[in-house]
This record gives sequence, C-alpha cells and structure tokens, in this order.
Amino acid sequence: MLYEINEKALKLESQGKKIIKLNIGDPDLATPTEIIEAAYDAMKRGKTKYSSAYGEKSLREKLSNVHNVYADNVIITLGAKWGVFSTMYLLLKDGGNVVIPSPYWTAYGLIAKNLGAEIKLVKTELDSNWKIDLETLESLIDRDTRMIILNNPRNPTSSIIDEKVLDGIVRIANDKGITILSDEVYADISFVKTKRILEYGGDHILVTGFSKTFTMTGWRIGYVIANTGLVEKLAKLNQITLTNVPVFIQEAALKALELQSELTGEIKREYYERAKLACDILSKTSLKFSRPSAPFYIFPKCRGLDSEKFALSLLDDGVAVAPGTSFGDYREHFRISLTAPRNDLKKALNKICEATLE
Ligand code: PMP
Repeated sequence: MLYEINEKALKLESQGKKIIKLNIGDPDLATPTEIIEAAYDAMKRGKTKYSSAYGEKSLREKLSNVHNVYADNVIITLGAKWGVFSTMYLLLKDGGNVVIPSPYWTAYGLIAKNLGAEIKLVKTELDSNWKIDLETLESLIDRDTRMIILNNPRNPTSSIIDEKVLDGIVRIANDKGITILSDEVYADISFVKTKRILEYGGDHILVTGFSKTFTMTGWRIGYVIANTGLVEKLAKLNQITLTNVPVFIQEAALKALELQSELTGEIKREYYERAKLACDILSKTSLKFSRPSAPFYIFPKCRGLDSEKFALSLLDDGVAVAPGTSFGDYREHFRISLTAPRNDLKKALNKICEATLE
C-alpha cells in the first residue's frame, strides 16, 4: 500500500496537481554544498573507477574512530538498506525466524518475506508509549531464531527504545546467543540521546548510513559494523552484486563526517521545529500521538479509522501520507513524514485535521 500511494501521488503530480508528499522518508532539505563539492572534486581527480568491495580505507578508518572499533569491522554499503538486506540475507537464507518489534520499517518485513523467513512480531502500542515488553520478546525466541532487528530511534513512531528495555533486550539476546541487528539511521540526528548497540558487549551488528544525517538519500551510502567474519561475507556479496559504492561518493561521505558537527546541527534544528509545529497543530484535534523524540515522523491514531481508505482519499485533497498497515497491524494509525517545508507542512496538517474530523 505504501508503494501504491506513492505511485498514485506521482501520477497526480504528472497531471499537474500539487501534492504535499508526507508519505515517504525522503527529506526535502538539500544535501549540504560542501558534500556535493567533495564528490565533484573527487570525480575530477579520477575517483571514478572500480574499487574495494569493503569500501575505501580512509572512510573505514574514519568510521572506526567514530565508533571505536577496528577498521576491519567496518564495511561500506549501498545505503543502510543494502546493509539491512545483505545482513538479513546472510543470517536468514538457510531458514529460521526473525523477531521484530512492531510497528516496524516496511522493508524488514518485505525482506524477510522474500527470503522465506518467518517474522515474529513484538507488538507495541501508543497507549504504553511504544514500550517493548521483554517477556513477550523472550517468549517469541526459539531454536530457529536467527536474529532480532531493532530500530532505534524507531520508524514510524520516532520513539526511542527506553535504555532499561534495551539493556534487557541485549541481556536476553546475549543469554540466548542471538544476534541483534540494530538499525540506527536516525540516531545521529535524534532530539534525545540514544544508547547505541556498540556500547554493549556481545556479537551484535550496527547498520546505519548517511541518508538521514546529512540529507543524502539519493547518494546511496551506508555502512555495517560487525565481526570480521560477517564483514568478509558481506564483502563477498558486494563483489557479486554492486562491486563497490562509487569512490567519489565515499569521498563525499568522508567530507560529511569531517564537517558533521556544523552540518547536522542545522538539519536537526529544522526537524525539531517541524515536529513542534506538527504537535501544536495535531494536539488541537482528537488524534492521539506520541511526541517525536527524533526525526522525522509522527504516527497518529484516529479511533475507527481505515487508514488505507483515508490515505487514498487524502490524496485527492493534495496530501500524501502512509497508512499504518504498512508498518504492521496498525489500521487506525497513519504516518506523517515531516519532510516538507514548514509552510507546506502547515497546510497539509490542517487538511489532515479537517479530514479526520469528517
Ligand atoms: N532504515 C530505516 C529505519 C529507514 O527508515 C530507512 C529509510 N526510510 C532506511 C533504513 C534506509 O536508509 P538508506 O537510505 O541509508 O538506505
């Protein structure tokens, strides 16, 4: 349904209708000029050839310093999505199941399904502030469980996994010898500091990237930090598929990291203001929602709503949102991406308020 909405939005746009697109997580903000210039400069210096399937030494070393690991533990991937896909592929291709808290990022479910893996969901609810129940999670783990996938901060709720709960999940995983894949693509621009998976002991995997932190979605660069055995296997997969992430893009990513503190401050501030604006407008309605602790979603609940029908009819009013069913069993919810300029956002939120009153 997520993709159907997007296709319909694009079709309406091609017919000349203005659609405020709050349905996907693709920021409207531009990639900072310094990053663009670094890529251009690298291209001019001839960084346009095939290269290592592990990624460039300079970028791996920089990331190893950022995360306090060895460079051998780092592999550069085609966006975090390829990091998620290839890790899931390696851990689940011979069968087994994966435990995922819901609501979850749509791709985890679709990837598992495509790999023929069973998905075991730990359902979380708005009423309990999206708390992951440790007993439920533990009860779902069996001898066929190959991994737990966490996303912190979480999409679509923009909530943070409570630190004590995270401690508990890691304890359970370590006791049972289960690997956690922690997708932390929103962590570096989170409004609230989050505890990172690499702060724990145990054989766990970090997947993250540059898309959200530096508004580089279309550049397709991310990375995985894991044990060297898994890094080797991921590199072999890269070799037979994408070969390597373009070197000029890796150089741009290195520049982004060098300028991180000055570049991300502004990006984070903008999302914070948007989240505040959205909460102010939505709190005047009967919609229930949790305030975002990170960019850049809100996942309101409207009693009795059929969010698929709602999302389709809202498109006719010029606003695209994602139905809650794209993230698990959440028919009464819908997801708003705060990925439009504030003026558009205001208009769209007012339309959403009107539509949910009907
Ligand atoms: N993980 C999550 C939780 C996401 O929301 C997204 C993008 N919507 C991604 C990964 C994909 O990131 P990338 O662009 O780095 O592939």
